[in-house]
Amino acid sequence: MNRKVFQEDTIAALITPPGEGGVAVIRLSGPDAFTITDQVFKTKARALCASLESHTIHLGTIYRTETAEEGTPLAQTVKPPQEWVLDQALLSIFRAPHSYTGENVTELSLHGGMALSAKVLELILSRGARFAQPGEFTRRAFLNNKIDLTQAEAVQDLIKSKSDISIRTAIGQLQGGLSQRFKALKENLMKLYAHMEAFLDFPEEDLEVYSDGEMLRGMSQAREVIQALIDSFKRGALLREGAKLVIAGKPNVGKSSLFNALLERDRALVSEYAGTTRDTLEEWLEVKGLAVRLSDTAGLMQNAAHPLDAMGVERTKKTLQEASAYLFVVDATRPLEPEDQAAWLNLQNGRPIVGILHKADLGVHIKKDELAQFAPAFCWLEVSSKKRTGLEQVEEKIFEVLAGTHEDESGEQITRLRHKSALEAALAALKRSEKAFHERASLELVTLDLKIAIDSLRELIGEIYSEDLLDVIFSEFCIGK
Ligand code: GDP
Repeated sequence: MNRKVFQEDTIAALITPPGEGGVAVIRLSGPDAFTITDQVFKTKARALCASLESHTIHLGTIYRTETAEEGTPLAQTVKPPQEWVLDQALLSIFRAPHSYTGENVTELSLHGGMALSAKVLELILSRGARFAQPGEFTRRAFLNNKIDLTQAEAVQDLIKSKSDISIRTAIGQLQGGLSQRFKALKENLMKLYAHMEAFLDFPEEDLEVYSDGEMLRGMSQAREVIQALIDSFKRGALLREGAKLVIAGKPNVGKSSLFNALLERDRALVSEYAGTTRDTLEEWLEVKGLAVRLSDTAGLMQNAAHPLDAMGVERTKKTLQEASAYLFVVDATRPLEPEDQAAWLNLQNGRPIVGILHKADLGVHIKKDELAQFAPAFCWLEVSSKKRTGLEQVEEKIFEVLAGTHEDESGEQITRLRHKSALEAALAALKRSEKAFHERASLELVTLDLKIAIDSLRELIGEIYSEDLLDVIFSEFCIGK
């Protein structure tokens, strides 16, 4: 399918983060990218953009041209006055269709200053470019067939990646790993559909059509692939968004010390006084390539006397509800207490828990059978935050409970709810089609649902799309991407 909807206007934006830095880059994309650039930038060789080869870089000067005749390329101005000079810059040229957006693109690399980049951008806009909307460069790349929709989404995922694994997942998706999978699925279903259509159109002819067995096998294979992709969502979303891991336990068992030890810095206050941590602290931590949002909570005390303690406990309970998994900490130097039990009861059922026998440097005095009674068949790790022992095992266990033991970095897990919903729609339609085929219902019914399944997959990769859907997807992007 050919999307190619060429945009009539030329857009521009700062594509590096605003602020002071080594360089600031402004990108222009669209039919007038070259002529607008010619009005603000003069190469040393006085060349017009249209005469420059694609994928080349040129040193030159940016001039403010308030008094110049509108539309005059600077190359044709004999010598612009010195007071017009704004900056020395580098110009990169990309000719359509060999650019990020598929259109003519120029990029001006300036010295990185807030006022300077704002001035140059203003100048470019005054020469006829429009300020780009969030994600508009990538949206144009999609509209010009440079990438499909799942690849466009991967661009955003890559920018937002917080860990090694999420980077690898996003880059796999950007390189088309997931799209290939969706496309193969769609093509398999289209073959089945084409055979049925041919049979419907020319039933009297002796066409070589799939046997019933082949049709059913084709449908059930597609169903299994779709189901596996839907099942990969939980892990995929975890990789994309990161898991929330909450450290819980009664006061003074060393939760903040463990929090600091895992982050390898003194983020939370630690003291011998129970109730030092009253608020919930959160930091990103990378565990074996996985992004984890680690929370240190106020200790769960049963009878909080101070109103601030009571507020801390309430906040902790809320954080516990949002957790993907827990590190449950007990003080290994003393027998378990009713407060440990009370804290335990606040954990949500069904979420993984890693048990920490803390302060193990002072010896482990809790008895095994006591632990077994407390939490049967449960894994406890001996850890000392003070001596930094056992932390490696904690990280291994965290990874295991959050991401499973098998690493799948092929980029073929789905990470977005949009993908999951489209696949669920495809699966439901495919099941209906399969059932109708089994029950020898009319072939029209079978093909109708098969068509719905195919269209759901086409929506997934963006072969069918609405402007509203594009608005939703690209509004998440930053300006300049
Ligand atoms: P929290 O209230 O559960 O957050 O506990 P803290 O992290 O504030 O620690 C309570 C006390 O236990 C402090 O006096 C810490 O120095 C001490 N502590 C924490 N971790 C360890 C450890 O691994 N070994 C020893 N010996 N003491 C620890």
